[in-house]
Amino acid sequence: MLRIGVDLGGTKIEALALDREGREVFRRRIPTPRADYAATIAAVSSLVREIGEGSVGVGIPGALSRVTGRVKNANSTWLIGRPLKEDLEKALKRPVRLENDANCFALSEAVDGAGKGARVVFGVILGTGVGGGIAVDGKVVAGVNAIAGEWGHNPLPLPSGPDLPLPACYCGRSGCIETYLSGPGLARDHEAETGERLAAAEIASLGKESLSRYEERLARSLAGVINVLDPDLIVLGGGMSNVARLYTEVPRLWSRYVFSDRVATRLARPVHGDSSGVRGAAWLWERVE
Ligand SMILES: [Zn+2]
Repeated sequence: MLRIGVDLGGTKIEALALDREGREVFRRRIPTPRADYAATIAAVSSLVREIGEGSVGVGIPGALSRVTGRVKNANSTWLIGRPLKEDLEKALKRPVRLENDANCFALSEAVDGAGKGARVVFGVILGTGVGGGIAVDGKVVAGVNAIAGEWGHNPLPLPSGPDLPLPACYCGRSGCIETYLSGPGLARDHEAETGERLAAAEIASLGKESLSRYEERLARSLAGVINVLDPDLIVLGGGMSNVARLYTEVPRLWSRYVFSDRVATRLARPVHGDSSGVRGAAWLWERVE
């Protein structure tokens, strides 16, 4: 039987099917019917039906509330408050597993990516937002509030100098890690310090001083994660994961903030790149008959 994975993003819906050995046997990408919930359900269902029989896992930019079973924390706002899992199950007439997309990313890299063979994997998204997910022994740790791994809205540790004043975050707080470590966060910081407006990718490729500040902030922030979770591996995803320097500089910098004589945690590039979300959604069914 096939494992079907769907990545329900804000701009595109991607579906793939993995065979028993984890080989990809189908893949298709369509634009998301933005702001139209009924059309979104119909689009996901028709993609899955096109593939046929199989288990269905869906990754979303948000989570299901443990209280209401409805979508929360989603930047695809037309999904918020909707019983998405229930509606997909009704449309597809089979059980559906639904997970946060950063959790799917962590799972994909844990099962057969950068974290293959590692017990505890922390997957980090450094993109337009900052998210994260935890996989232990090849399973997602979702948490009692469905927010496990959401380090992006922790405050940046030890803010001083150019970290101040604390930038306001859309979540209502100030100084969130996301306001520094997202792509737009890097661009904002660079502009505040230099007056120069550049995209995050340009700043990274120029190796500007702003990138050094970014690395230092990432090291401080990840040290907090290491102290709590002590993962074997931290794998980076999202646009900033393409910046090669991070993989050498950040582990060099994080030691001074980690409560240990030595840090064995590895910082790795993703193996599956952009496909990690959709692969992880498929792996939400760890066993299929
Ligand atoms: Zn925030």
